[in-house]
Order: sequence, then structure tokens, then C-alpha cells
Amino acid sequence: MQSYAVHVARLDPDIFDDVTGDGRSALGQSLHAYEAEMEEAFPQDRATQLSAVLRSMARAWDGTSARLLRQAKGAPVDAGLGLVVQQMAFGVGHGTSGTGVLQLVSSDTGLPQITGRYKSQSQGRDALEEKTAMYLTRDPRGPSLEDIEPEVFQQLITHAQLMRKKLRAEMQVEFVLEDGTLHILDGVRVSRSSQAAVHIAVALADDGIIPREEALLRVEPRTLSELLHRQVDPKAPRDMIGSGIAASPGAATGRIVFNAADAQASASRNEPCILVRRETSPEDIRGMQAASAVLTERGGITSHAAVIGRGMGLPCVVGASNLRFNLKRRTITSADGRVFSAGDEITHDDTRGEVLAGAPAMREAALDDTFKRLMSWAEAAADIGIRANADTPADAQTAYNFRAEGIGLCRTEHMFFEPGRMTVMREMIFANTGEDRRAVLERLLPMQRKDFKQLFRIMEGKPVSIRLFDPPLHEFLPSDKAGQRELADALDIPLSSVTRRIDELSEYNPLLGLRGVRLGVTVPEIYEMQARAIFEATVEGSRDGAPVVPEVMIPLVSTRREVELVKTAVDAVAAAVRGESDTDFDFRLGVMVETPRAALRAAEIAPYCSFLSFGTNDLTQMTYGLSRDDAGRFMSAYVQRGVFVEDPFHVMDTDGVGELVKLGATRGRRAQAGVTLSVCGDHGGNPESIAFCREAGFDYVSCSPFRVPVARLAAAQ
Ligand code: PEP
Ligand code: MG
Repeated sequence: MQSYAVHVARLDPDIFDDVTGDGRSALGQSLHAYEAEMEEAFPQDRATQLSAVLRSMARAWDGTSARLLRQAKGAPVDAGLGLVVQQMAFGVGHGTSGTGVLQLVSSDTGLPQITGRYKSQSQGRDALEEKTAMYLTRDPRGPSLEDIEPEVFQQLITHAQLMRKKLRAEMQVEFVLEDGTLHILDGVRVSRSSQAAVHIAVALADDGIIPREEALLRVEPRTLSELLHRQVDPKAPRDMIGSGIAASPGAATGRIVFNAADAQASASRNEPCILVRRETSPEDIRGMQAASAVLTERGGITSHAAVIGRGMGLPCVVGASNLRFNLKRRTITSADGRVFSAGDEITHDDTRGEVLAGAPAMREAALDDTFKRLMSWAEAAADIGIRANADTPADAQTAYNFRAEGIGLCRTEHMFFEPGRMTVMREMIFANTGEDRRAVLERLLPMQRKDFKQLFRIMEGKPVSIRLFDPPLHEFLPSDKAGQRELADALDIPLSSVTRRIDELSEYNPLLGLRGVRLGVTVPEIYEMQARAIFEATVEGSRDGAPVVPEVMIPLVSTRREVELVKTAVDAVAAAVRGESDTDFDFRLGVMVETPRAALRAAEIAPYCSFLSFGTNDLTQMTYGLSRDDAGRFMSAYVQRGVFVEDPFHVMDTDGVGELVKLGATRGRRAQAGVTLSVCGDHGGNPESIAFCREAGFDYVSCSPFRVPVARLAAAQ
């Protein structure tokens, strides 16, 4: 009667506040309260009651909260309403009466474990909410349903098994015991962690209840990344101090450090640390390698910190603009005014993009055999290849372990940040003539050759696509006075020469300046050295292991002539290495399509290429005219106000950028049948973007190594 009053007649629940006792007397008081408020008798005819209930449910379906909930759950706008009319079973009454829920698996792990609660003399889902509810199976903490009603307990299990089989899903059974008789009220899909979702889907397939293809569809690809990294325990208390863009998933606790040197010092003491920067630059890479997580004030999903963080599997929150960064004082301040200084302990929950105070409990990564089996089914089902973006042997090993089909992008510049190499690199930048530059590059050659050989060895003959040098040179020069003095010392030149060179190299708009193939054309010695290192590693690698067919990739092209010039130079180096080593080898040359012009003019570029790899990070940046390093500052406002449906650096803008991608692909293929098409921008790990690439007939996508499983499952779906 009270439910009817509140939900159907829409009376205030507090009209029943004075109702006391139970049984008949409570019923009488409730009836009185109802009739006093409504000024009419409580309907006694069942059909009248039922139709009023149905009408009110239908009304609620159109209400704002139901609409918002449907929207949040991704239900179609015109979704219909289904109502089940069921005979009442009473959990309050004579004999053994009560209600409960039961499921056959743990919601945390998905492994078999009878879980649930039973509460005697209760209605609805009371058993779930009350602490006095009893356990189902024998339990040292108190009496259980299995103790008091062993037969009912067995019947329940039979029902749950039947439901699992017939409804082809792991179900939670809602039941009522009425005077000792069991009634099944309902079954709802068991709530599940990401790990449980994998176990449940695989077990259903193993038991022949659903086919493997369907098991693949039952797991949301995005949630896999939660299994690949440590997570903050969802049940742990959270003291959030700020948030930003979740750029690289995982979780880590550490003490705050504000520069790369402190991060390295911290690592040498075996103390986990979190590197806090306004934004990161190549100078920070050593610090990032030493840190457990990175937090930046600026930047978006394809900013330096984000791209490198994802590559290394390093948790990373970027664009945390609701924290105040004071790098001089070495503090960060939360919106509620709490100040955190160097040495304070914080935790990153980068699956949600949140920064927490202290050290909440963690949950470890869960890459068990079940996960691996699901992945092998995905591999068999997918018809678009998955490669990984890997710059270092460690990345390559992760990629190989996740069964990536090759390396789709090796950003070679990242190899210059190893200790000892930076100074040589800087010497090269300071060289005055081509001759001097060649001499310095001679010293970099064996280092690069060794890097490439390692990559080839780890990938065991799988394709490795090596991108020639891409960033503007000034990124390799120190930005602060102390670093500049150190460099002057190391090169034995006056400080003024250092600052002059830095001034000469500085650009108003470095991302649109002298970088990529433009460096390759104007300072050809760099690409020549890299090509030589690749080919010499090919010769040595093929001698020791599986034959290697390297892929040489030219970044940032926008004209045919650029490709022609670099191709001529690379071919000449290949011929020289063949001659010197007296060994023949094959290689493939291709370009990154990452300027709008390269996409538009793909027909004249493709004939020089074995492959076109779309760099959708830069392509997005240039199509929108939107800096990938600065967009993070206003991205959330743009998404909130509906200007962008999603961050286009995260989910490919299939309308605009996608149109260019398709156009480039079609024109490229028409001019050069059989040219391999791929995406190696960060969209390569995004499920919606993968679907787009597959439809556009692409051969593979390439993403950071830790996203390979996510991409593979998305591809399979
Ligand atoms: C790209 O631009 O999409 C790309 C893969 O290159 P990078 O991110 O190194 O600029
Ligand atoms: Mg690029």
C-alpha cells in the first residue's frame, strides 16, 4: 500500500511516518493515512490497481531521470518499455520466509564462487542492503542458508545453472522463500569487474553455451586496459585532489618530484616518484623512465608526455588544469587549497585521470591464461592487422609479448636520449659544415645500428617500420641556463655561441617548421646516417637470425619532390651497403601521410612508396589547425559545450580528418595498387577509429604496445 501511495498516487512518503507496529494495525493506519491524503478510498479492485500501476510505470519511462539514465547507458532514444506482471510471493509471513540473491561467480574475479545474501522476513532487495542478512554458503561468521535450508539452497543452484544456460549469461538470481517454498522472482546480469568480464565470457564459451565469436563481443575492449596495468582498488577510499586527461592508463603511488634529475635520483634510491612538469619535452625522457607516473599541467592526448607515457606503459595524467602548479616553489595546490610539495606522497589513477592524496590500496594487473586465450580467439577472428609503435627494445619486447604483428612506427629520435648520445647529438647540431656533421654522425651510426639490430632480433623477422628523424632540432638543446653552460663546457665553446645557435634554431611555430622530411632535404646527412644504420643492421641481423626486410618511413611529407629526393638518397645508401657487405637485401620505403597536402596529393606520392602510413596525430592537428600540445587547455570546454563530440586527438574525427584519410587512401591505391595502408597515429588504439580503418580497407593499425590487446579485441569485434 505504501509503495502504491508513493509510486502510483505520488504521495509524499512521510505521510506514513507515524505508522507504528506491524501486521493489521500498521495496515489500518496506512490505509487511513492514504485515504486522508487522497480524500478517496484505496482502490480495492485488482484490475483498477494494476492498470494504475502500469500507467504510472509508462509515465516514469518518459520522465527526465529515466531518459537521462537510458542516454547514459547508450540505449536508443526510441527504446520501448517492457513490463512483467508477476504473482506476489511474500517474504514476510509464516514459516521460513525471506528474500535473497544468489550468483554462481564472484563479481570481482569472475571465478566460480557462490555469492549472495539471504534475509529472513524481508521483501524486495532488503537482503542486499542490510548487515543482518545471512550468507548463502557455510560461513564461520554466522548461520547460512545452506545450514538452515539445505534443500532450498540446492534448488537455487539448479535454477541459477539453468538460467545461465538458457539466458546464455551469468545471472544473479533474485528469490523469495514463502513459508518454505522457493519462488524465483528475477534474474539480472551479474555485475562484473573487467577481469570478471573476461573470465565469464571465456567460461560461457568453454561450456559451449555461447560460441567463441560471441564471447569476444561480450568484453568491452577499453576495459582490457584495466587488466594490463595496476589499478587503484575500486573499493579503496579516494581522496581526490585534482584531475586531468587520462592519457595513459594504470595507477601508481610515489613522492612528488619536479624535474627529471630528481626522478632519477629517486629511482636510484628505489623510491617510487611521480614526475610533475608543466609539460614534458625530450629532455625529460630519462626522468620519465625513472618515474612511476607523470603529471602535467598542460597538454592533450597526443602531447609529448601522453605519447611517451603510453609507449612506456607509464601512467600519465596530462592537462590537469584544476591543480595550480608552482614550479618555482615546487608545489601543486588542489582546488580546495591543499598544498602538496616535493616529497609528498600522491597517487595517480590514470584510468580515470585522477590524482589522489596518499597511497590507497592497489590491484595488480591480471594477465592470466584466460586473458591470453581470449586474445588468441581475437587474433583468429580479426581481419585487420595490429602492429605496435615501439621505440626501444623494451617497447619492442612488450609488443612482441602481446603478439603484435610488427612495429608500425619506431620514432628513432627517442633513441638519442640515451645517456652519452645527447651530447653527440648536440655536437652534430653545432657542426658548422656538412663535413663536420658527417664526422659526428659517424659516431652516432654504430649506436643506431645496434638499436635497430636489437629491434630486428626481438621481432624475429616481423616487419619493423623505422621512421627517419622527425622533430625540430632545437628540442635537443638545453632550455635553461645551467644546461646551456654545461653544453658550452662539453663542447669547449663560449656560452654565447651556444645561446646564439639556440636562437638561430628557435622557431615561432616549431611543429610547422624545420622538421621531418624538411630536415631530411636540407640536412641530408642525418637521413643518410640513419639509412646506413638500418641497412647495416639488416645485413647483420639477417646473417644471425630470421631474414629482415626493414621499412624506411619518411615523416611529414607534403610534396612528391620531397619523397623523390629522399628516396634517391636512401637507394644510394642501400646500394653502397649492398656493395660493401657483398650481401643483397630487400627493404620497403614509404611515407607518413600526416599533412593534408600529402593526403590530397597521394596519387603522385604513392608511386614512390610501398606503403602509406597515416599519422593521424599531425593530420588532426593540421586539419583543424589545432595544436596537439595546447588543445588540452580548452578541450574539455569544447566537448562539454558540444563543439566536439569527443577529443579528436583521441577518437578520430571520421567526418573531417577521416575524409582526408579515405581520400588519401583511395588516391594512393588507385595510383599504386597493392600499396600497404595503415594508421600509426594514436588513433590506432581506439576501437571506433579501428572500425573506421577496417571499413576503409586498411591493412593494419599501429598503436602503443600496451594497447595492442585492446586494438586486437576491437578489430575482432
Ligand atoms: C602522427 O603524427 O600521427 C605520428 C604518428 O607521429 P608523431 O606522433 O610522432 O608526430
Ligand atoms: Mg607526426
